Amino acid sequence: MPPCHSDQMTYAKPFRVGVVVEAPQHTGLLGPLDYLCDQDLPPGTIVRVPFGRRVVTGVVWDQGGSDEASQALSDEQLKPVAEVLTGLPPLPASWRQLVQFAAGYYQRSLGEMTLMVLPPELRQLDDTQWGRRLKRLDKDVAKGVAAADAAPALPELTEQQAQALQTLAGPVDKPFLLWGSTGSGKTEVYLRQAQKALDEGRQVLMMVPEINLTPQLESRVAERFAGRRIVSLHSGLTPAQRLRNWLLAHTGHADLVLGTRLSVFTPMPRLGLIVVDEEHDPSYKQQDGARYSARDLAVYRAKSEKVAVVLGSATPSLETWYNALPPADGGPGRYVRLAMPARVGDGIMPTVRVLDLTRTPKPQGGQTPPPLALELLKAIEQRVERGEQSLVLLNRRGYAPVLHCSDCGWKSGCPHCSAWRVFHKVDRTLRCHHCGFTERVPRACPDCGNQDIAPMGRGTERLEEQLAEVLPNARVGRIDADVTKHKGALEEQLASVHAGEVDVLVGTQMVAKGHDFRRITLVAAVNPDAALFASDFRAAERQFALLMQAAGRAGRDAQVAAQSEMWVQTYHPTHPLYACLRRYDYAEFASQQLKEREMAGLPPYAS
Ligand code: ADP
Ligand code: ZN
Ligand code: ZN
Repeated sequence: MPPCHSDQMTYAKPFRVGVVVEAPQHTGLLGPLDYLCDQDLPPGTIVRVPFGRRVVTGVVWDQGGSDEASQALSDEQLKPVAEVLTGLPPLPASWRQLVQFAAGYYQRSLGEMTLMVLPPELRQLDDTQWGRRLKRLDKDVAKGVAAADAAPALPELTEQQAQALQTLAGPVDKPFLLWGSTGSGKTEVYLRQAQKALDEGRQVLMMVPEINLTPQLESRVAERFAGRRIVSLHSGLTPAQRLRNWLLAHTGHADLVLGTRLSVFTPMPRLGLIVVDEEHDPSYKQQDGARYSARDLAVYRAKSEKVAVVLGSATPSLETWYNALPPADGGPGRYVRLAMPARVGDGIMPTVRVLDLTRTPKPQGGQTPPPLALELLKAIEQRVERGEQSLVLLNRRGYAPVLHCSDCGWKSGCPHCSAWRVFHKVDRTLRCHHCGFTERVPRACPDCGNQDIAPMGRGTERLEEQLAEVLPNARVGRIDADVTKHKGALEEQLASVHAGEVDVLVGTQMVAKGHDFRRITLVAAVNPDAALFASDFRAAERQFALLMQAAGRAGRDAQVAAQSEMWVQTYHPTHPLYACLRRYDYAEFASQQLKEREMAGLPPYAS
């Protein structure tokens, strides 16, 4: 990194450049700050500039947008650029436009947005480190990618896939919604469309909700596009890997980027297609710091770069669904809807069994109730005997949602927020799942000293324990965010499920997503009612998507499809959500929800 110049006053006519830096909110800094440089730096150049007492990374921005106070300063009052990051093409205009839009739309300062979406390492490297990174990148590029052994065997397209692809081959003036059941072959459509873009010399951005939950997609992409350079971008990479992959994409050397929400900001000079798989998934929304919806930004980006964007889902978000409703159905027709209702190869969805909890016998005095309704337990037992697997879903991790003192009524609240702290038995802690505040379980009630404080309710940890007790012949396993905290633990646990070493798998929504479990013939949602009456108006929508996705985990193998079942334990068996689920009728569910939202003046009718 050569210095921009060594001494401020040694050249005749310095150039003023506007540089975006990350300024704390309270400074109220909105636009770029002017700096001096002995060369006119093109917008998008990454530089290091003095800011306060530090030297920070910044990006040269387009002319004319600088902060007013900064514009008013004379050249003599400006500070010089400290260093220019050479050897890197400037961040393109389309990238700056995307970041500028995101900053405005989500009400963050331009600097905060800009620096947040750059690889973290880029902000910290010094001269020599930067030089080393570039050298390593050159080596990587020079090495090339191993050529493919042979062309991969492509399945013959189903009629629905062929139709979808035909529409995709048409004009790209609108985003596409690929609405296809689980197992309808959406991924195959993405891959074909990606192949087309790659053949035309374009780059492809393929977005997925959480990369570690979809290892199969990664290997499918790698297999299909052997000979192409594929990079992934997600928060699980080391900073060095993330910078490397980002640089490969930005320099145009990577052909396909497979990434999570943060990848929507990857500069790609030859971008030709954006795919957003499971577009309804909440993890496309960044919740901390600068908030954004990567799905919405993907739509914006596709429009501004005039490339196609395909949003895929079996249960689209209601906003997307509404946008894709044709005018004939009372919608705005902003997106083009491609429907693939059938599963490939006559695959059928499991039979839905709605189990009415109001009619299950109450336990007699003093008896502990069974962890699941007896009918459901029996169905699971049968699976265990036949050597089939069951998946039991409970969207609440930990042992029990709250500890309780029966003497004085104390409950394990969080002192920092309004949530209860969850009891985790493994390490005997009370943990707040909202703010993270964690403490050892107190020996006695902190309010009255009673030694007899007890768990109330049930989380996955306790359900696992209870099921192991009542199903002595079953090997019970668990997958949730607690089990998979440690690197590699999720992969290990998934492998043992695939290897058939687990008969009954207890899990949170984590296991409902994307896994191709071949031997699961029963999926049970143990406590799905909570979402029906939640204050968050999107809760029902999310729950429906989750249940549909969960059902898709069962009967994936044609040999067991016919005996596959999706169980729902509920106190509200006649609720319309379950009626729609019985028929896997997303369209009907969406239409009911839209009616409710319209009457209540909620999105997508109001924002
Ligand atoms: P989705 O992404 O909609 O869940 P996938 O693309 O994963 O569906 O397809 C489900 C299964 O069907 C996969 O095992 C896939 O390899 C297979 N498949 C997809 N399209 C075809 C096809 N046209 N012919 C045969 N098998 C297919
Ligand atoms: Zn007490
Ligand atoms: Zn808290």
